[in-house]
Amino acid sequence: MTPCMNGAVVAVEEHPDNEGECLCGQQNLLYMYTIYNSEKQETLSYIGSQCVHHFKRQDLDVQVSVFSQLLALKRAIEDSKKITLTSDYFSRALLHWLFAEGAFNNERNGYNGEGDYAFFLEMFNKRKKEDISDARNKKIWAMLNFQVKPFIQNHPALG
Ligand SMILES: [Zn+2]
Repeated sequence: MTPCMNGAVVAVEEHPDNEGECLCGQQNLLYMYTIYNSEKQETLSYIGSQCVHHFKRQDLDVQVSVFSQLLALKRAIEDSKKITLTSDYFSRALLHWLFAEGAFNNERNGYNGEGDYAFFLEMFNKRKKEDISDARNKKIWAMLNFQVKPFIQNHPALG
């Protein structure tokens, strides 16, 4: 397995029975990651998180953690848990991933989610959530339920 300098983690799959197997041969893995190397236009799959860590690439480690958060969020949505815009389910890196993937784009904002992403980031960063106005809480609730949740549930990279 060659370390990929232009690689990015592009997908995660969960193997609930721990039957995942890494390219290196390591078995009994729960989460398997796919890395795409844009320079070689080649996909490496599937790779366990330990092997991703061996690449010694901080950005890949961050992506692995974002994808595992995304999967946890997807499971919570499937379990009908109450999703809040807090560090229970979100992180700055996760919000950025959602933005980059177009999760905040909609008809209302002309399919440019930049403003709504900035709003979500600001609300997420607020240390005192009780200071958030009712109107803003309603907007967060609506966007989480009608936009973010279906986006995550239908995203092909989260299996
Ligand atoms: Zn491995």
